[in-house]
Amino acid sequence: MSKYRNLFCSALVFGFISSGTAIAQVQNQTQTTLPHVAVLATGGTIAGTGASETQTTGYKSGVLTADVLLKSVPSLGKVARVSGEQVSNVGSENITNEILLKLAKRVNTLLAQPDIAGVVITHGTDTLEETAYFLNLVVKSDKPVVVTGSMRPSTAISADGPSNILQAVTVAASPTARGRGVLIVLNDRIGSARYTTKTNANTLDTFKSSDDGFIGTLIDQVPHFETAVAKLQTTQTPFDVSKLDSLPEVDIVYGHQNDGGYMYDAAVAHGARGIVVAGVGAGSESLLTLPSIKKAVDKGVVVVRSSRTGSGYVPEDSAYIGLLGDNLNPQKARVLLMLALTVTNDPARVQEMFQQF
Ligand code: GLU
Repeated sequence: MSKYRNLFCSALVFGFISSGTAIAQVQNQTQTTLPHVAVLATGGTIAGTGASETQTTGYKSGVLTADVLLKSVPSLGKVARVSGEQVSNVGSENITNEILLKLAKRVNTLLAQPDIAGVVITHGTDTLEETAYFLNLVVKSDKPVVVTGSMRPSTAISADGPSNILQAVTVAASPTARGRGVLIVLNDRIGSARYTTKTNANTLDTFKSSDDGFIGTLIDQVPHFETAVAKLQTTQTPFDVSKLDSLPEVDIVYGHQNDGGYMYDAAVAHGARGIVVAGVGAGSESLLTLPSIKKAVDKGVVVVRSSRTGSGYVPEDSAYIGLLGDNLNPQKARVLLMLALTVTNDPARVQEMFQQF
């Protein structure tokens, strides 16, 4: 009996070793055939460290480098061949137009390489949607570009960074993500850069697409896409960052009760070429501000009305001054207006762009 048991055990051991070798071979083959995803790190909470596992505010963001971020997710090796690069290492409140342009140019260079399947950008969540929408307008490829971040620093208990990186790389490596514009992936959700926005300062489920919905979900690391985006994006826009070293100054002026006009005057005096009004309700402007807004328009500044409510459309209304920002929130309207002003000063053409993109 024991003889048979030994034989059985040896057979098991032999089987384990030989299948182990076979698994190693398959893994090696898979490694070389897996899609290549480039990860560009810019900083943010995802690269942040705190003093203890319970610290989720007041930590330092933008500390860990791209390599460290990627090493924290061993399962990436099953999904893609991943390479990491550091573009910046800052909290996203410190993302400048200069960083945006550097990032966009690098993304376009990488995507033009035949061996690159897709690109992931790790980013602070505070202005993540602005970078994502900027890229959505200037990336010249149908390959997937995915922006991700985290709400908890790397040192926190149940940090969401590693899972978000794995999900972002999974989507970027997926052929089903092609041609959908730039995507925002966090917390199991796949959103379009055009519609997704940060809605809560603290919680993990902060990114929402309140009116238009997410375009997909990740279940068991498999992306499921449901909705196509109707607005034009990436290869369908006229914006070309390859020759740009700077972007026109566009400011946002926030509407409120007893709003004076001097914030508009200050923006114009500072040299703004565009102003986005974060108007109350459906982009309404106070009577007290109209003389300053008119002065700005008379000087050739392009004014666009948007809504400070964060969702909904701005309708035509002869009581107010400015182009209509469609349903873009003020921060995304600013991104589009900056790019629009790189190709035209004609208000009619800018208005058309706000309907198209
Ligand atoms: N303010 C930091 C940033 O945007 C932290 C926010 C975050 O990454 O969640 O980078």
